Amino acid sequence: MSLMKPHSFAHATEALSFIDGGFVSPGKGEGIAILNPADESHLGVLHEADRDEVDAAVASARQTFEAGVWCGLSVEARQQILRNIHDLILTYADELAYLECLNTGLAYAQLRHRHVPRAAYNFSFFADYIGQAKGEVYTQAENFITTVTREPVGVAALIAPWNAPLALATMKIAGALAFGNSCVLKPSEFTPLSFMRLMTLFSQAGVPPGVINMVNGRGHITGDALVKHKQVDVVAFTGGTETGRTIGAAAGQGLKGVMMELGGKSANIIFETANLSHALDGALLGIYSNNGQQCLAGSRILVQRSVADEFISAFVARTKNIRVGNPLETSTEVGPVISRAQMERILSYTKSAEKDGCEVLVGGGRVPEFERGYYVQPTAVLATSNNQLVCREEVFGPFATFILFDEVDEAISIANDSEFGLVSYIWSGDYPTITHAMTELRTGVVWVNTPMMRELRAPFGGFKASGVGRTGGRANEQFFTEEKTVTLPIRPVDPPQLGMQNRSGDERP
Ligand code: NDP
Repeated sequence: MSLMKPHSFAHATEALSFIDGGFVSPGKGEGIAILNPADESHLGVLHEADRDEVDAAVASARQTFEAGVWCGLSVEARQQILRNIHDLILTYADELAYLECLNTGLAYAQLRHRHVPRAAYNFSFFADYIGQAKGEVYTQAENFITTVTREPVGVAALIAPWNAPLALATMKIAGALAFGNSCVLKPSEFTPLSFMRLMTLFSQAGVPPGVINMVNGRGHITGDALVKHKQVDVVAFTGGTETGRTIGAAAGQGLKGVMMELGGKSANIIFETANLSHALDGALLGIYSNNGQQCLAGSRILVQRSVADEFISAFVARTKNIRVGNPLETSTEVGPVISRAQMERILSYTKSAEKDGCEVLVGGGRVPEFERGYYVQPTAVLATSNNQLVCREEVFGPFATFILFDEVDEAISIANDSEFGLVSYIWSGDYPTITHAMTELRTGVVWVNTPMMRELRAPFGGFKASGVGRTGGRANEQFFTEEKTVTLPIRPVDPPQLGMQNRSGDERP
C-alpha cells in the first residue's frame, strides 16, 4: 500500500474570492472551517463572499463581457487558451487530485485517474467542438436568405456541488467559456481547495482577468446573492433537487435561463439473461464508486428472482472485501463521506430500513477502525416494497437497496415508479428484453450492459425531478448562447408601400 505524501504539495489555507484575475482580501463575510473528512482536521478557512463581493465578481464578469475581451476573440484564440487549460490541468494533475482528495475524501486513485483527466478533457472537448460549430441557412423563401447564428449569452452563474467538484464544475466552466461567455463560479462551501489552484491555472493559460471569477460561501448566502443578481443572464446548477427548486424559483423571477442537474434514485436492473459477472462488477461500481456520492448511482438494484440468491450473495461477498480507508492510500476504494451531517444522514437510512422490515445484508454502520473521519461501511439492504423510504429517497452514500422482481414489465414499472428519472442500467443478453426496457424506461440516460459511460457529445440530464435541460456538446451550446436570426434579400426588394393614397383614394402626387 502506498500513500500519497500528505505534504508533497502546499495548499491554500484560506479560500478567497477570485475577482478580476486575482484573489481578494476577505470582506465582512463569515469565516467557515474547511475540514478534511478523513480525519476531521482543519485544512483552512473559507471566507464567505457577501452580497458586495458577489456584486464585484458579477461586475467584473459583466465588464469583460461588454468590453469583448473574451467574446470578441477569434474562435482560434479561444480554442488555444482552452487547450492550454487542458494541458495545465494534466501537468498539475497530481497536485489537483491531492487537493481534491484532502477536501472531499474521494479516493486519490479515482481522482487522479478519472476526475482530473476528465476535468482536462472537458476543455479540449469544447475547444474541438467550437471549431466545428455550425449555424443555419434558409433559402427556401424566394429572393431571401436567412441565417441563424449563435452569440454568447452574457454572464453565467455556475453553481457546483461537492461530490465531484472538479469534474462537474469544469464541464460548466468549459461550456460557458467556449461559447464566449464570462462567468462566476460558486463551488460548494465544503470543497473550495482545488478551485483555489484551478483559478491560478486559468490565468496561466491566458484567460483574461475578469472572464472567470469565483465566489466562495454557503448556498443560502453567496449562492442566493449570485442567482438573484440582475446582471447574471443564466444559471447552470448541479446539486440536490430541493435546492434546484429554490434556485429555479429565484431564476424564474429574474427570467434567467436555467440548466439543472439534480438528484436521482436510479434503477440498476439485473435480468436473468445477464452476464452476471459483468452485471456484478457494474452494480458494485454503480453504487460504491465515488464513495456512493453520485447523482447517477445505481442505488436501487432490481434483480430477477431466479438469479437473486446467486447475485446477491456474490454482491455481499465483494462488498465485504471493499477496501475502505484513508483516501490518500492508493489502494483505497471507498473513502469517508463528505461531512458528519452526511454520515449521520446515511446511517439514519439503516434505521429506517430496519423499521420498515428490510433486511440489512451487509454494513449499515460506521467503520469501527476509525475513531475520526466520516467513514461509513458499504451497505446493502433488501427491501420488500418499492414504497419503502430506502427506495424513494436519494441516500447519496455507499448504500444499495435490492428489490426483487419476476417479470420484465414488473422491473420496468418499479424502475419508473420514482420521482426521479436520471439514468437507468439494464443488464441482459436478450435482445428483445433490452430493446423493450430501453424504450419504456423514463430516464434521460440508459446504459445497457455497461457501467456509467459518459459520452460528452450526447446530452446528459434527467426526466422528472432529476433536472431541467441537459449538458453535453450541443446542449451546452444551446444553453450558453442566444440564437440570432438575420434575413436579407438576395436582390433589392420593393417593399409594399403604406401611405401612398390620400383618403379619397387618389394617388398622391
Ligand atoms: P446542494 O443542492 O446542497 O448544493 C449544490 C450547490 O448549490 C452548492 O454549491 C450549494 O452551496 C449551492 N446552494 C445551496 N442552496 C443554494 C441557494 N439557495 N442558492 C444558490 N446556491 C445554493 O447539493 P450537494 O452539494 O449536497 O450535492 C449533492 C446533490 O447534487 C445530490 O442530490 C446529487 O444527486 C446532485 N448531483 C446531481 C448531478 C447530476 O448531474 N444530475 C451530479 C452530481 C450531483 P453550499 O453547499 O455551499 O451550501
